[in-house]
Parts: sequence; structure tokens; C-alpha cells
Amino acid sequence: MSILVYIEHAEGAIKKTSLEAVSFAHALSQQTGGGDVVAVGLGTIAEDQLAKAGEAGASKVLYVKDSKLDAGVIQAHADAVAQIYEKVGAKTLVLATSSLGSAVAARLAIRLQAGLVSNVVELPDLSSGYQVKRSIYTGKAFALTTVDTEHKILAIKKNAIDLKTDGASASVEVVSLEIDQANFATTIISTDQATGEVLLPEADIVVSGGRGLKGPENWGMIEDLAKVLGAATGCSKPVSDIGWRPHHEHVGQTGVKVAPTLYIAVGISGAIQHLAGVNSSKYIVVINKDPEAPFFKAADYGIVGDAFEVLPKLTEAIKAV
Ligand code: FAD
Repeated sequence: MSILVYIEHAEGAIKKTSLEAVSFAHALSQQTGGGDVVAVGLGTIAEDQLAKAGEAGASKVLYVKDSKLDAGVIQAHADAVAQIYEKVGAKTLVLATSSLGSAVAARLAIRLQAGLVSNVVELPDLSSGYQVKRSIYTGKAFALTTVDTEHKILAIKKNAIDLKTDGASASVEVVSLEIDQANFATTIISTDQATGEVLLPEADIVVSGGRGLKGPENWGMIEDLAKVLGAATGCSKPVSDIGWRPHHEHVGQTGVKVAPTLYIAVGISGAIQHLAGVNSSKYIVVINKDPEAPFFKAADYGIVGDAFEVLPKLTEAIKAV
């Protein structure tokens, strides 16, 4: 039985979370005795990017080449994926728990009468029904959910699944679909470009600053480190409240929730509301001059020191590597 994976892209580059979803589907197909892993990409995607789905474990890539789908209109994407799902004859859909992925999954769950589990962190346990482990309470706990519907939708949590990069090359088939114009009833007119070069919610590395940075004029240190690491920049809530940084950079319970591989917190105390937005990070590095700062308890690595001394040295050291 085929498994369909909905892959998302940003300006033609397939998102890492979607490739993780492909690797998850590949492992799932092996667990359930084989079957095709079919990835579906919508919009305008470069050929070398589609090939990455093969390396991550897809046996086939269906490419709906239609520039109208570039804007990520949820209803249109849901319709396209549903059509492909039916065409492929799949019983399981795998995708990323992202803003677009979650919205598409919700619509498809209704259309396909499918059980939907989001924030999935492991392959299902098939020994007792179809039991799926999911992350809840911003990564603080896990829940086990049984899916007993014929059709299943599994939305994978970012960074929870090891990315496979040694898969074979997948065949790419360009598919054309009739997507009802009514599905384009909403139009995305413009998208606000975040200040950093890398978008915060999707970033693999985040460098975040707090009130310990003393003022907006010192943010160059954060941006310099972010630049050498290819990271997005974030901040604590008070920093955006007082206008040192834009609101879309505010990380935490009331801001953006991030799940990067590496989160570097500079001059941030580690209040519970901030941690709620970052505790799904794979590794946390804390730089704070107060050895008693609560953030150190959540950190994998910590540097007790003055950010104004540590940051320039750290940036230079990374540049030298
Ligand atoms: P501070 O608490 O002032 O900490 C500054 C830190 O910098 C200190 O640990 C200090 O030791 C260190 N420091 C100072 N100078 C230096 C230096 N030179 N070098 C290195 N370190 C230095 N906060 C969020 O961030 N996100 C949220 O989503 C959020 N939601 C909230 C929701 C509610 C309902 C409430 C009540 C609060 C919320 N908060 C949130 C606020 C939160 O409780 C904290 O007040 C806030 O996170 C503190 O920000 P901070 O760590 O930047 O500042």
C-alpha cells in the first residue's frame, strides 16, 4: 500500500521538515512490509530539489507544476493533495507539522474521514493497534494516541525524525490537475519579509537575545553570530515589547515557537514563558553572566560570561573554522 508524503517548499527549495516526513514514511513503509513512498510537490520546484525527496527515501515524486500553487493557498493545496491521494490509492498521508502542513492536514482529515495525529515523534507501535507517540505541551510531555480509521494522517514534528540522505534516486512525474477555481477564493497579496536572512519558524539554528543585551544598538553582535552560522535571529518578549526588535522575532509562549537543531540564548534569563517556545530545540546553548540564571537548567551547554566579551570571540572563532 502506498504512503503519500506532502512536501512543502520555500521558493523552490524543499523544506527540511518535509524531507524528514519523507524519511519517516520510508521507515514506515519498511515497518509495514514495503509499498511505494510517493512524495507530492506543488508549485514551482527545482529539479535538483525534487531529487532530494528521493535521497530522503521517496520511491516516486509527483510534481504538480502549477505556479498558482506557489502561494500556499491552503484550500487549493488540500484539494490538490486529496486528488493525488485518491489517484495513488494511498491509505496513509505523512506531512510536516508546520503552519501550512497543519492547516492542509485538518482539511484532508475531514475530506478523507481520516484519523489525524500531529507532532508525531516516532514510528507507530503496531503491536497494540496503531499507537502513535506525539509531543504535547510544547515538548514537555508525550501522549500515546491510537488511530483506528482506515485512512491515517501523520503530521511529523520538526527535528524528531532522523533525515535519511542515502536513498536511491526517485522517478519524477509531472502531473496536471484540475483544481477548482473556488479553492483560490483567498489570495495572499503580500508576505512580510522577516528582518533576518533566515525565517525564524523554519530555522535550523536560532540566535536569540534578551534584555541582557542592554539596547537595540548592540544587536549587531547577535546578527554577526547569526550570519556566520546561517541562523535566524530571535528575542525575548520584553525586547520586542520595548521595540528593540520587531514582534515577529519574539520567541516563547506568546510568540513564535521554534524547534531548531541549535538555539543560542544570549542574555535571556530563561523564564518559563520563554522556555515554552524553545524547549523542542535539539540543543540549547545559554550565554549569561549570572551563573544562577534559570536558563542554564534547560541548557545542553552553557557559557557563564558577559555577552559583550563572549559573542565577538565566539563569532571570530566560528569564522576561523
Ligand atoms: P530579564 O529577565 O531581564 O533577563 C535578562 C538576563 O540577561 C538575565 O538573566 C541577566 O543575568 C542576563 N544578562 C544581563 N547582562 C548580561 C550580559 N552583559 N551578558 C550576559 N547576560 C547578561 N517572555 C518571553 O521571552 N516570551 C514569551 O512568549 C513570554 N510570554 C509571557 C506571557 C505572560 C503571560 C507573561 C506574564 C510573561 C511572558 N514573558 C514572555 C515574559 C517572561 O516572564 C520574562 O519576563 C522574559 O522572558 C524575560 O526576558 P529576558 O530574559 O530578556 O529579561
